[in-house]
Amino acid sequence: MNGKIYQMISLQAAYKHCLAAMKPMSAEKIRFDSSLGRVLAQDIRAKRDMPPFNKAAVDGYACIAPVAGQKLSVIGQIAAGSHKHFDIEAGEAVSIMTGAPVPKDADWVVMKEDIEQISEKEIVINRPGRKSNIAIQGEDYKNEEKLLPAGAIIRPQHIGLMAAEGYVEIQVSKLPRVQIVTTGSELVEPDKTPKASQIRNSNAWQLKAQLQAIGIQADYSGIVADDKASLKKVMQSCSNYDLSIFTGGVSMGDFDFVPKLIQDAAYEIIFHKISVKPGKPTLLAKKGNSVILGLPGNPISGFIQFILLGKPMIYAACGTKIPDENLRLPAGERIASKKSDRDSWIPVKFIKNELFPVKYNGSGHLAALSETDGFACVPAEKISIEKGEYLHARSI
Ligand code: AMP
Ligand code: MG
Repeated sequence: MNGKIYQMISLQAAYKHCLAAMKPMSAEKIRFDSSLGRVLAQDIRAKRDMPPFNKAAVDGYACIAPVAGQKLSVIGQIAAGSHKHFDIEAGEAVSIMTGAPVPKDADWVVMKEDIEQISEKEIVINRPGRKSNIAIQGEDYKNEEKLLPAGAIIRPQHIGLMAAEGYVEIQVSKLPRVQIVTTGSELVEPDKTPKASQIRNSNAWQLKAQLQAIGIQADYSGIVADDKASLKKVMQSCSNYDLSIFTGGVSMGDFDFVPKLIQDAAYEIIFHKISVKPGKPTLLAKKGNSVILGLPGNPISGFIQFILLGKPMIYAACGTKIPDENLRLPAGERIASKKSDRDSWIPVKFIKNELFPVKYNGSGHLAALSETDGFACVPAEKISIEKGEYLHARSI
C-alpha cells in the first residue's frame, strides 16, 4: 500500500537530516522593536564605549581622595545630561547626579547619604565609602565590540541593547512559510460535536500554537479526509511552502495514504521511521525547496516530534539552534521504564532543576501535557532510571 519500506533510523540521524532539510532562509530588514523571538542575521557591534564617559553611579559629590571628617567647598553642580566643565582641586567638590559625567580630575564620588551639608557651599565627609562610585568609560563594553552574534534568538534584553546602541533597523532571518495539513476522516473541528466514532482535531491547533510561539503564522489546510483525491489536491499546495507539516495518515494503516502520495508527487522520502517512542512513523520528505514533515496523528507523538525535530529544523533554516539542544537534567526520583528497542521520551516536570515523571498513559493522553514542562529521554536498554541519573531533556 505505501510503496517502498524504509529503514528505521535513530533519532540522532533523523535530527541531522532535519537540520539539513530546509533551505537556509535569506535575511530581511525589520525594526528592532518588532524583532522579539526572531533570529539575528547580523552581528550587533557597539557604536561607542559604554559608558561613553566616566559616569557618576550615584547621586553625591565628585572630589579628589576624600577622607572622613574632611570639609569640602562645593563649587558647582552637574545634572545628568549636562556637559558642564569643572576643574576640581583638592578640598573642592562638585554636586553630581547619577548618570552625569564626572569632572576629569575627580577620582571619587561620595554618596549623598555619606556627607553632611553644613552650609550652602560646604559639606563634611562622614564616610568616603568603599568604592569610587565612578563607572569608567568603556567598562561595560568598548566601541566596536561584538555585543550579539548573528544567530542569536532575540530576547527582551537584546532589544534593550539594540536600543542603547541605536540599531533601529536590523537584519533578521526571514521566517519560513509553513502550512499545517491535518488528515483523518474521523476528525471534526473543535466547534463541532463529534459523533460516537469521531474525535475533535487537536493536532492542527496545537501545532499552530507551537509555530506561533516561535513567531510563525502558519496556514492551515482544514481537515483533509483519508481519501486519495483530497490528499492529492492538498499535496499540490506544498510547493508554495518552505515546510508543510502533515499530521496523521503517515503510518502503516490501510488508509495512511500520505507516504505513497508524497512519492507520487515526486518528493524524495528521506526517512519514514525513527527509532523513538512515541513517534516511530515520523516522515521527512523533500522536493527542491519544499519540505514535508509528516507527524503521527497521536496527539503526544506529534507534539513531541514537533519539539524534537520540527522546531530544530525551523531554527536551523533560520541559521541557529534551539536554545536547549544540550539540556541534560538529573532525575529527581527513580523512574521505572519498560525495556524497549527504542529510546522513550516521557513527559516530565522540572522542579528545582530535576526531572519528575508526569502520570501518562501513552501517546494519546494529551491531558498529561497540561502539567508538563518538557520531555526526557529514557534510553532503550534501561528498565529504570535512578534518582540523580542525568537524562537528555527538552523544554516545551
Ligand atoms: P494516524 O496517525 O492517522 O493513524 O492517527 C493515530 C491516532 O491519532 C488516531 O487515534 C487518530 O484518531 C488520532 N489523531 C489523528 N489526527 C488527529 C488530530 N488531528 N487530532 C487529534 N487526534 C488525532
Ligand atoms: Mg489517520
